[in-house]
Amino acid sequence: MDFRLSERHQAFQKEASDFADSLPEQRDEEFYDTVREELVKRGWLALAWPEEYGGKGATPMEQMVFNEVMGYRRIPSGNMGTMWVGPALMLYGTPEQKERYLPGITSGRDIWCTLYSEPGAGSDLAALQTRAERDGDDFIVNGQKIWTSGAHRSNWGWLAVRTDPNVPKHKGMSLFCLPMDAPGISIRPLVNMAGDHEFNEVFFDNVRIPAKNLVGEENRGWYTLAVALDFERSSIGSTSGARRTLDDFIGLIKSKQASLNEQTRARLVDCVVAAQVLRFVGYRIAAEQEKTGIAPTLLAQMAKLSAMELNQRVTNMTMGVLGMHSQGHRAGAPGEQYSHGFLRSVANTIEGGTSEIQRNVIATRGLGLPRG
Ligand SMILES: Cc1cc2nc3c(=O)[nH]c(=O)nc-3n(C[C@H](O)[C@H](O)[C@H](O)COP(=O)(O)OP(=O)(O)OC[C@H]3O[C@@H](n4cnc5c(N)ncnc54)[C@H](O)[C@@H]3O)c2cc1C
Repeated sequence: MDFRLSERHQAFQKEASDFADSLPEQRDEEFYDTVREELVKRGWLALAWPEEYGGKGATPMEQMVFNEVMGYRRIPSGNMGTMWVGPALMLYGTPEQKERYLPGITSGRDIWCTLYSEPGAGSDLAALQTRAERDGDDFIVNGQKIWTSGAHRSNWGWLAVRTDPNVPKHKGMSLFCLPMDAPGISIRPLVNMAGDHEFNEVFFDNVRIPAKNLVGEENRGWYTLAVALDFERSSIGSTSGARRTLDDFIGLIKSKQASLNEQTRARLVDCVVAAQVLRFVGYRIAAEQEKTGIAPTLLAQMAKLSAMELNQRVTNMTMGVLGMHSQGHRAGAPGEQYSHGFLRSVANTIEGGTSEIQRNVIATRGLGLPRG
């Protein structure tokens, strides 16, 4: 396979890079709103969605080039709406639901959060207890979610609940589109160890959802959810953040003329090699998808797992080498990116399914090994 980008892809890479470089430096709420508005203006928020749903119909390779450009600059190139809620709705939503929800995602008007995890249901998601009971044309929801990223910034929620408690756990779940301003919802912030307010606890006290917001069949939500999880875990181009940290770190070491001991040099080189290999795996995934029209899900999951673990190795190594020089905790302080990157990377092997669970999925679905 030829790993060079075609002239067309190089031209798009340049266009996307020029755009990314024109954005302000400051990473605050306003910055993320500006990015979203600018992406919507260019039709780049849901680049690979079909045009009928407000996307650009871009190819997987174009999407990958774009993700790399943005990821390298640590700018989000999509959101939960574009990455899994919308694609799942395209497959399982009614024509009315598609018409109602998809344009809100591509226009940037609607921001979605994902309400799966509960205090007693994370890896074992099918154990979730939040209950939705039918009441005429509505369902009434009671219970609690946790680790809900961005709930405080979202106007829609992609909600998994139990609709039948009297059947095996995988068979009594349903998925709903939940307006986050519905009466009875309360959101409590959780601040992570990097000091950021990313996720929340969300409580439901007799929250009414119209039955028309049910996605797919009642009690068959597990199957929709499994597909949505595949979309979530099949991201491509996800090593670009680690590559950026490595490039910055190498630039810093050179500018200070600092000498690294042999062991550290070896660890650094190992990370650089792994990042480059994973980048090419990303290209292969995109090329295969472009050729066959089908995403090689297993390979994408392997790449995602390796990329998340690589990011932790990179942040661990850079912070370890820089020691006190990486401890500027104030935003913008020298070295802050390394300590912040290290603290944030701890979650990489938990979010979207832990590394152990990803390995289980690869072992059983990918390699066909019997369940343990
Ligand atoms: C930054 C971040 C953002 C998140 N955002 C969201 C969000 O937006 N929406 C949402 O719903 N959730 C979100 N989550 C929650 C996340 O999906 C869960 O934390 C994750 O699935 C693990 O569940 P848990 O925390 O309950 O841990 P547990 O499931 O209790 O796992 C504890 C440990 O046991 C291991 N383990 C469990 N079962 C097995 C098994 N069968 N085999 C081997 N090992 C096992 C796990 O790997 C882990 O090491 C987020 C989490 C993080 C860290």
